[in-house]
Amino acid sequence: MEYKRLGKHGIQVSTLSLGSWLTFGGQISNDVAEGLMKTAYDVGVNFFDNAEAYAHGRSEIVMGDILKKMQWDRSTYVISSKVYWGGDKPNQLGLSRKHVVEACNAALKRLQMEYLDLFFCHRPDKHTPIEETVWAMNILIQQGKILYWGTSEWSAQEIMEAYSVARQYNLIPPAMEQPQYNMFHRQRFEVEYAQLYKTIGMGTTVWSPLASGLISDKYISDLNASSRLNRPGLEWLKETVLQNNAIEKVLALKPIAADLGMTLPQLGIAWCATNPNVSTVILGATRVEQLEETLKSLESLPKITPDVLQAIENVLQNKPEQPEY
Ligand code: NDP
Repeated sequence: MEYKRLGKHGIQVSTLSLGSWLTFGGQISNDVAEGLMKTAYDVGVNFFDNAEAYAHGRSEIVMGDILKKMQWDRSTYVISSKVYWGGDKPNQLGLSRKHVVEACNAALKRLQMEYLDLFFCHRPDKHTPIEETVWAMNILIQQGKILYWGTSEWSAQEIMEAYSVARQYNLIPPAMEQPQYNMFHRQRFEVEYAQLYKTIGMGTTVWSPLASGLISDKYISDLNASSRLNRPGLEWLKETVLQNNAIEKVLALKPIAADLGMTLPQLGIAWCATNPNVSTVILGATRVEQLEETLKSLESLPKITPDVLQAIENVLQNKPEQPEY
């Protein structure tokens, strides 16, 4: 496994990491969750991603129980949580000081740990002054309850605003962002954030590298495959993911992957990892076999040459235009 600094920051994360959205405490059994974490940790994955919203907190409970059982040295892994969607009541939602502090304390309790390595604002909160959130994060860092704080799906402008506020008051600025990034979702990561990697040294923990499992064989062969996109309640996701001839493009990527001796998921993940602004690619899996497959993606990284990248561009036809400065 390779490790990268989280942007300009000191902490190191494995290039591939493991997430728990929809799976831990929901779609999969606790035994499978344990198998996933063990498989990942055994090959050197050191970052496990979570959030208060995942399975209404059950995902953190499951992960906390597994970590307790495994007895891995706390210094060998990095754990995240995210604050925003804590519940339906007024003060259980958003980024007020009250909810940020309460969400952190609740996550620590569910995960059975003393501190979170990374704590993300899961979305921007237009109803809370940014100063309030930045101060709240700073308090949690001073209390030793979190080590780094960051954002998820914030605009470049919102991130810069938080950064500037932190600088103005001598507080600790956001260190990382968690955006969606995959072959079919590129604009924000490649264009909107482009200056932030250089100017503020922002690290990134990117999500949905397979576009929710689209970049695989399953939907090519059966659009109704009993997988994530066909789960009840996720119709909105299927509609979003299957836009712009996505299935046809995945089919056209298949021979490129085959020529390199890779599977489609391995190509999709290696493609994300070739972007130098990606600190870690968060993998998701419903079965250990899936994870064993995707964890091998980096072995083929040297095969992703400029010619291969161009062949992929020719299929995708979605390379975002960089503005001329
Ligand atoms: P992916 O796009 O990689 O989708 C993962 C899903 O794809 C799996 O659950 C599985 O679903 C399928 N899959 C995985 N491996 C294979 C394989 N080898 N072959 C075939 N199918 C495969 O990632 P996620 O969308 O799960 O995102 C990863 C993580 O990112 C999440 O767990 C979470 O931690 C984080 N995240 C953060 C968000 C945010 O707002 N900050 C939003 C979303 C995710 P199935 O078997 O059902 O097809």
